Amino acid sequence: MGDSLHLHSLLIHGGIDGDKTTGAVNVPIYQTSTYKQSGLGENTGWEYSRTGNPTRAALEKLIADLEGGEYGLAFASGLAAIHTVLSLFSAGDKIIISDNIYGGTFRIIDKVFKPLGLRYEIVDTTDTTKVEAAIDPETKAVYIETPANPLLSVTDIAATAELAKKAGVLLIVDNTFLTPYLQRPLTLGADIVIHSGTKYLGGHSDTVSGLVALRDKAIAERLYFLQNAIGGVLSPFDSFLMIRGIKTLGVRMDRHVANATHIATWLAKSGYVSKVYFPGLPGDPGYEVQMKQADGPGAMISFVLKEEYDYRAFFRNLKLITLAESLGGVESLVCHPASMTHASIPADIRRQIGIADELIRFSVGIEDVSDLISDLRQAIEAARKE
Ligand SMILES: *Cc1c(COP(=O)(O)O)cnc(C)c1O
Repeated sequence: MGDSLHLHSLLIHGGIDGDKTTGAVNVPIYQTSTYKQSGLGENTGWEYSRTGNPTRAALEKLIADLEGGEYGLAFASGLAAIHTVLSLFSAGDKIIISDNIYGGTFRIIDKVFKPLGLRYEIVDTTDTTKVEAAIDPETKAVYIETPANPLLSVTDIAATAELAKKAGVLLIVDNTFLTPYLQRPLTLGADIVIHSGTKYLGGHSDTVSGLVALRDKAIAERLYFLQNAIGGVLSPFDSFLMIRGIKTLGVRMDRHVANATHIATWLAKSGYVSKVYFPGLPGDPGYEVQMKQADGPGAMISFVLKEEYDYRAFFRNLKLITLAESLGGVESLVCHPASMTHASIPADIRRQIGIADELIRFSVGIEDVSDLISDLRQAIEAARKE
């Protein structure tokens, strides 16, 4: 279905639309592990559901369409997707990673792949000259998140893609924070896009999933091999939930972004904070690049309260906004990166990359924005130190 369709229509009609057999407007949940073969070597194209499943295939086609890619893959979690992509590399290879990166991504690289011989170098990828300087003959990939977790720093995708191409290394972009609705890295020159579908794509905090999209046939064939060989695939039911979530991605993201922009602007003027990180605020270091390469700033805000407020008391006093891991759901969530999402990064590295113990990360939901501001205000006021 339709490369000519606009994104809002692709969200609803992209991938494999409906069911040809019955006319059902939704892709059925093919809850089966195996498929009947009519004779030896004669099958319907489906053999075993780790290798391929029609519900999962519909989601895989959909993410490829949305990202402007040719190939898509769906996994049981974002980290299962990351595991499979990192399995493209071998002992002795080096990858360059952003200094701001999801804690679990750092953990699998440092604790699972490094012992197997994969080397990594942490680089401030917001500065492309530093990326260029870090590329050596063993470097096989640059792995970035933008805006990055949790300081929302912005890396120039097109500029990084250009120098990666020149050096013959892959550019891998974790696009979880923006989704293809706001940013399409493959169209800016990236080679592989990764998602935690758990977040905005699913959108309802009810499914854990991971997605990959790309254009290169040879790399895609290797990834399909690894997906089947490693086996961290998404179930048919969860694939259905992802397709269902993605249908409303556009309207959800519009509201997420409007709420976040309103709240970041309010916070910056409120007198309550010493720092606000949000690439949608003019004056934010990432603002210009963000506006150039994406269709919006996303809806993640990080901030630090002024010293007269106790951040632990702030978390305790919230009534509507929920203290929890994760992000990207319709409900507003806050977290404390130093003890939650980024606890797997050692304290010294955390400090080095600027993740203060006082940092608060806010995933702005789609509730009424005035209710969110009231809750923030009362929780901050109640956290004023004696
Ligand atoms: C959550 C997240 C992941 C990991 O995804 P899971 O679905 O939790 O395995 C990877 N990258 C980013 C940016 C994330 O927010």
